[in-house]
Amino acid sequence: MTEKDLPSLNIADLQSLLRRREVSPREVIDALHARIEAVDREIDAYLSLDIDAAAKEAEKANVDLPLGGVPLAIKDIINVMGQPCTCAAKILQGYRATYDATVIQKLREAGAIPFGKTNLDEFAMGSSTENSAMKLTRNPWDFSRVPGGSSGGSAAAVAADAAFGALGSDTGGSIRQPAALSGVVGLKPTYGRVSRFGLVAFASSLDQIGPLTKTVRDAALIMNAIAGHDPRDSTALNQSVPDYTAKLGNDLRGVRLGLPREYMIEGIDPQVKDSINAAVKQLNSLGAEIIEVTLPNTEYAIAVYYIVATAEASANLARFDGVRYGYRAENPKDMLDLYGRTREEGFGPEVKRRIILGTYVLSSGYYDAYYLRAQKVRELIRNDFSKAFEKVDALISPTSPVPAFKLGERVADPLQMYLADIFTIAANLAGICGISVPCGFAQVDGHRLPIGLQLLGKALDETRILQIAHAYEQSTEWQKARPPIAGTVATT
Ligand code: GLN
Repeated sequence: MTEKDLPSLNIADLQSLLRRREVSPREVIDALHARIEAVDREIDAYLSLDIDAAAKEAEKANVDLPLGGVPLAIKDIINVMGQPCTCAAKILQGYRATYDATVIQKLREAGAIPFGKTNLDEFAMGSSTENSAMKLTRNPWDFSRVPGGSSGGSAAAVAADAAFGALGSDTGGSIRQPAALSGVVGLKPTYGRVSRFGLVAFASSLDQIGPLTKTVRDAALIMNAIAGHDPRDSTALNQSVPDYTAKLGNDLRGVRLGLPREYMIEGIDPQVKDSINAAVKQLNSLGAEIIEVTLPNTEYAIAVYYIVATAEASANLARFDGVRYGYRAENPKDMLDLYGRTREEGFGPEVKRRIILGTYVLSSGYYDAYYLRAQKVRELIRNDFSKAFEKVDALISPTSPVPAFKLGERVADPLQMYLADIFTIAANLAGICGISVPCGFAQVDGHRLPIGLQLLGKALDETRILQIAHAYEQSTEWQKARPPIAGTVATT
């Protein structure tokens, strides 16, 4: 293996080389840096890199730790001490984190090296990364298309071998959907499984941090490092953390998979539908029993989400006022002018739209009609899942109804953009876990565009969906496929 080929490795294989002392952590950082230099000008996945600090950490890395010497990319909404944390927002331009998020602290304890921050939709609001105030990230499979969002930079970097793995955050699909559109694995953990301390809050009852990786095993390895209780996040569950790799390799005999009737809706791209149907057959041939289930309140999920998430966002984003962090409007007349103009100039249009909507649904006279009602319907959605999980171990669906869409295609129509999350949002409302795993390609305009299969599991049943996703992944060739970027190895 030459240094040039190192970035094409997954985390597990990289670790074997590191542990056998066939390559040093420093060589890994240098090889990755060279790869980023070569491809990031085409995909623009990164907002900032801290290679010097990473190289220093690499010199003293202990490769025998669980993630010893493994460099990881971090969505730029998670605080990494000393590095910028912009949330891809003008209002946080120039801000540098003064502490490590709990997940970063845990990754460091496991020996990993956070070396760069990836692009996202401003404050994680979006499904294409086009709401970034900084730059457009391109899909490595077709540069004229979006990588998905909001963790689009993390997904594109991993897909292009410009990261061995990355962290993202998922409030309504922001890990799983970009993973699907960029052809990588993305796991949204159960609400409370991973600490949110140090994750800039978008919607606190929905946000979760999770991994984007090249393989299912790698997602399990990152989960082993980041999951667990945290006294600094009161919603972090005080439950022991299993070894997420423990069930990998088990077969699927006796596993019951539910196919929600409501999820094979009209409007799904026919090539996506075909891939999902083929994946269902494949899972069945691996021993899983397929059972039709019903989630009757699915049709309300998007509406409920855009009430709950915007309400919480309107409160969370009140702290950005030009006093404490980042951008400040010039020559304010008085304090209100300072707050007003800082927010007017510092937030992008989508974020403003959500603050306004969120403030509206919480305002007196509308609270009962919108916010309270949404909370009640959220409970119904939760109950749908509880009932389904009485019959099955996990649910299967497409991750996204369509493959990657064109840059610019949906920006003018927010509703179209919101519909991109139709299959992912309910899991956040219910607090359960979900994973997206590559399951095929659509042929569009001469390009191969990845398709993702979503598996949803019960709360705290990550080991189960990892097991199923792994069995599926190992029985197919999809995970080996690489986008046609110069220098990328192993195109199948
Ligand atoms: N696309 C959804 C939204 O715009 C979800 C975003 C996310 O999960 N952070 O809110």
